[in-house]
Amino acid sequence: MDIASCYFIVKSRRYEEYVVIAVCKLYLISLHCVAFSALGYAVSDIFEYFGTINEKFLGICYQVFCIIGVVITVYLPLDYYYDGVTLYTHGPAAIATYVFVSIYILSVIIAAALLKNHLKAQKVYALYLWMAVWAISAIIQFLNPKLLIVSFASCIGALIMYFELENPQSSLSRRTGHFSSAVIHEYLDYLYQTKQNFSAMRISFQTSAESSDENKLLRQTIEMLSDFLFSVDTAKIFDTAEGYFLLIFENTDFLESTKYQISTYFQSIENSSDVGNAITLMRPFYTIIPDCSISENADELMMLLASYVPTIKGNSSSNEVVVTAETMSDVRHQKDIEKLVIDAMENNRIEVHYQPIFNLATNTFSSAEALVRIKLIDGTYLQPNEFIPIAEISGRIIPLSDAIYRRALSFIKSYHIERIGIKHIELNLSVKQGESPTFTTKLLQMLDDYQINPDLINLEITETSSLRSKERLHENMSKLEAHGLSFSLDDFGSGSSNLNYIIDMPVTVVKLDKLLSEEYFKKNNKAQAIVNAVIEMAHSMGIQIVAEGIETQEEFDEMKSLGVDYIQGFFFSKPLPEHEFLKFIQEHNLKYIYQ
Ligand code: C2E
Ligand code: MG
Ligand code: MG
Repeated sequence: MDIASCYFIVKSRRYEEYVVIAVCKLYLISLHCVAFSALGYAVSDIFEYFGTINEKFLGICYQVFCIIGVVITVYLPLDYYYDGVTLYTHGPAAIATYVFVSIYILSVIIAAALLKNHLKAQKVYALYLWMAVWAISAIIQFLNPKLLIVSFASCIGALIMYFELENPQSSLSRRTGHFSSAVIHEYLDYLYQTKQNFSAMRISFQTSAESSDENKLLRQTIEMLSDFLFSVDTAKIFDTAEGYFLLIFENTDFLESTKYQISTYFQSIENSSDVGNAITLMRPFYTIIPDCSISENADELMMLLASYVPTIKGNSSSNEVVVTAETMSDVRHQKDIEKLVIDAMENNRIEVHYQPIFNLATNTFSSAEALVRIKLIDGTYLQPNEFIPIAEISGRIIPLSDAIYRRALSFIKSYHIERIGIKHIELNLSVKQGESPTFTTKLLQMLDDYQINPDLINLEITETSSLRSKERLHENMSKLEAHGLSFSLDDFGSGSSNLNYIIDMPVTVVKLDKLLSEEYFKKNNKAQAIVNAVIEMAHSMGIQIVAEGIETQEEFDEMKSLGVDYIQGFFFSKPLPEHEFLKFIQEHNLKYIYQ
């Protein structure tokens, strides 16, 4: 408008007077609008979230004020000057514009100062700079009307604003050029606040990328996918720092077709030599949330997406998970349990109960299994089946196990349990502990701290398909065995039974799972054959047998006649808190010991 007004003034002879004046006035009106917008920009954040009725009223006053300013500028007379070299406009309309614009500029400065605590420091700084540049140029032009610098200064100010605040670089990932993880939250917050319906899809890769080769392939795959995603215009695409992409669909209808488009792309390159190799190895995985209203806010949504990171190099055939309201409540439950675990660890409410194990050869309770419980604030106990599997998934199992082991070792140390006939305590070993490279050193250190003889400890290992590194477990077991610890194979017959465990691993005891003995008691032929064969085989290898979950006299008698070595179950006792356990053992063992 500034340039247009200059053009019309220079060519004023060619045009009607009122046309030239109209263009000049349009320019003045544009100044009103820019200054008013600056004020709007300064206070917009505040109005969106905190606007009180008074503030909203003030906003309306400013809008009316702006309209009045424009009307006055239109009605007041305006003149222009041109001598062949210099030109400018002057007169009441120009002065009115100055007055109004000055009021806006002042208002912006005051608003920025008042709202300092609610605005980003960067924004306050940029607003001040813009206003200062503009005000100074206005003063200069007012004193010297021939210097037409006001609009130029205003443009410079807007540029400053843009680079300081709306600078796309800070919102884009340097790696891929898609939106960066820094703005995901802001964007999701916006969607939740404006109550929009949207879907989300995360593309990650099912690899643990352990070797540097795999890391290279992963990078290569991400780069290719990233390039391809630029052709997707149905969703906003975010490159999260964790190496996956998050697609947000404001129009939920596009989710399916876009997913199809992406998987077709993957298929199309899968056949092309080395690139295809990368894709096959990395295996794209989709986490889909068709309706994001299942989550209440951005935090929860991000947590939901994150709790489905496919880290295990499994052979699961599915390459997607659809997160529904049901999954959401599972995840919430998991999070609640995790909080309970953390809280219990911090407040010393991890307890260990002990279940006596009866030795048929000596007729005494010669060992016991340590079983963790979490004491809740109301005094009731949370059972391990409720929190151990969750702690395994969330990675909390290691610190939790450390707390359990310390508690048990301190108990063994304080009460000299060997004096009441307990030969060893069985501690459950989680898969994660067993395959941890630091496990051996840590456990030996703990034994040393509590001055406990390692042969007082027996570790119960469970056969499981989630074991990633059998070699590491083997290694840990051999080292610990050399220090005098012994091992039991827990839950034999409950799941993916694998007799190799008995052959491969240095176990001295096999614990028959309750499920297997139940089948045995039901006269299930296969179960009877397995139990007989296992007992015979184990005995021939010098391995002893514990029958777990024995509840009745009949079950006890039957197991005894089968030739098992130990009996554990509610028939004798449930797992007991420390003092009750000591009392139980003293009452039963001492009469045998002193007989
Ligand atoms: P598990 O190691 O097989 O422990 C035996 C479970 O059977 C215990 O359940 C015990 O209370 C229960 N049980 C014993 N006798 C009977 C019986 O006669 N009838 C019935 N119905 N149940 C009986 P609990 O204490 O709830 O522990 C469940 C599982 O949680 C354990 O199975 C173990 O896998 C895990 N767990 C417990 N404590 C720990 C721990 O400190 N660390 C780890 N990693 N896992 C633990
Ligand atoms: Mg056990
Ligand atoms: Mg068991």
